[in-house]
Amino acid sequence: MSKNTISKKWLYLPIISMVFTISIGLFVFNSTLSNWLEHKVEGSLSEETSRIIKDINDDQVSFSDLKALDVYIKTKLVIAKEDHITLIKSDGTPIADSDISLNAVLQLENHLNREEVNNAKDIGYGTATRFSTSRFKNLLYSAQSFEYQGQTYILRTATPLTRIDAMVEELMNILIILMGINIVLVIGSSLLSNKLIQQQVKNEQDLQEERIEQRTQEIELLHRLANMLAACNSINEAQMVVEDILPRILGDVNGVVSLMRSSRNQLLVKLDWGGAWPGNKTYAPEECWALRKGKFHLANDKYTTLPCSHMSATGTDQTLCIPLTAHGNTIGMMHIYLGDKEHLDKSVQKLAFTVAEHLGLALANLNLQEKLREQAISDPLTGLYNRRYYEETINQEIMRAHRHKQEMSILMLDLDHFKRFNDNYGHDAGDYVLKTIGSLLLNTMRGEDTICRLGGEELAIILPNTGAEGALHAAKSLCEAVSDLHLAIKELSLGKLSVSIGIATYPKNGLQSDDLTKLADIALYEAKGRGRDQACHYDELIQPSEYPEPIEVKEKAKTSDENTINS
Ligand code: GH3
Ligand code: MG
Ligand code: MG
Repeated sequence: MSKNTISKKWLYLPIISMVFTISIGLFVFNSTLSNWLEHKVEGSLSEETSRIIKDINDDQVSFSDLKALDVYIKTKLVIAKEDHITLIKSDGTPIADSDISLNAVLQLENHLNREEVNNAKDIGYGTATRFSTSRFKNLLYSAQSFEYQGQTYILRTATPLTRIDAMVEELMNILIILMGINIVLVIGSSLLSNKLIQQQVKNEQDLQEERIEQRTQEIELLHRLANMLAACNSINEAQMVVEDILPRILGDVNGVVSLMRSSRNQLLVKLDWGGAWPGNKTYAPEECWALRKGKFHLANDKYTTLPCSHMSATGTDQTLCIPLTAHGNTIGMMHIYLGDKEHLDKSVQKLAFTVAEHLGLALANLNLQEKLREQAISDPLTGLYNRRYYEETINQEIMRAHRHKQEMSILMLDLDHFKRFNDNYGHDAGDYVLKTIGSLLLNTMRGEDTICRLGGEELAIILPNTGAEGALHAAKSLCEAVSDLHLAIKELSLGKLSVSIGIATYPKNGLQSDDLTKLADIALYEAKGRGRDQACHYDELIQPSEYPEPIEVKEKAKTSDENTINS
């Protein structure tokens, strides 16, 4: 508000100073013009006096006959309008006047006290400006002495000063009008230009605010992207984040993120956003210019038309590939496809680089997280799940079976006389056998079954939606498959291997995970006791009347004793 007031004051200052200087100029001009005009009129009056003296000489009028002289002066002489002449003897006596009667002339006082007359008598000419008491106005007098018919006379011509004033006034009026127009034009144009400048400034301000707003929004979106990606636990969650946030940052463009396989010989598209991706979903590192350069590659811009071969389907449309790096390694690529859009805006390009930085770090973290999680739940020797995962999963499966009112069984496996393998062929051979068993289980069991190595040569398998009969059938098949194995290291046969399996089923044998595990263990030792290489269901160890009463499943709410069935 105060800024506006200051600017308005400054706007009026030149106008005020212009009006002030013009007023002073007009005043000076006015007085100069008056003086100049007075001199001009004085000159022309003196010329008129000389002409009249010449006319008198030419006409040879007798000055002794005053009546004839009076008629001559009033009728014959040509005198300028508003001017009048007075003929005066050298002693100062007026003898004729073009304006007043002869009688009046003769009664006029001696004119030698008049400045112009006196000067004319003394030096031949004289001028004066004076208020005339007989004509009641300011007059300019011009007098000249001349010799006529042997005597000296003085001819005085007078003209009213109002003529000069009128001329000055007329010129001043023209000037004032011109100045007025000038001032109006200057003020008008100043106000207009001021308004235009203010409009321009406002437009600039609006544009600036809009830019700031846009930058703030971009920063906020990048911040959210980084936060959300950091909070992701899986690549699927990262896909949801990318799909939601990236179009808001990069606008209406298609994009994908491909990740380098651990073998580093192939990249696979893992995340995408925007429309259908026109490029390859898998490609070799050599197919991407950006990967080969170790730097982004913008194809089909004004400098190059070379597209990457994994994007060959995009024709002449612009594409951008940016390497994703984390901890000094290229972990993947971000690709952007512009479709039929002209070219990628510089600011969007910059944003894409920032997004790529966030994605690189986030995906590397995700990778690390997944590896750690995998390590935490898997057994490194066999690739099966470990005991920790078994304990987590069995509880979840019990809850699920309870929810869906289904049965669920667990198989407890122990390799028979495994110690002998170690003793006879060494620990490496034992490891080899364990790995082979792991692969066998992974290949023969259903996808929904959870296969775990609990430790040593003890294994457990959780079979969802499987009753006692189904579980026993699966266990017997396993026993057969194991005994059918031909184990050999470097063509050295390791002999036969067999496995004993104990089985327990939810809910009929137990409702809690600990109980089921314990009961399956009991059944396993029963199988061992019966001669190994066989499966035994816990049902075989009890009478039907000994089944436990159905009890509501509440995790950790009961002690294991409540549900244990006495055998
Ligand atoms: P049983 O039929 O009664 O089960 O006889 P067993 O020899 O299998 O009995 P036991 O459980 O006493 O022996 C298990 C052996 O498994 C002991 C150990 O030498 C071996 N073992 C445990 N973990 C590993 C492993 O990671 N690698 C190898 N090579 N051997 C292991
Ligand atoms: Mg054992
Ligand atoms: Mg054993």
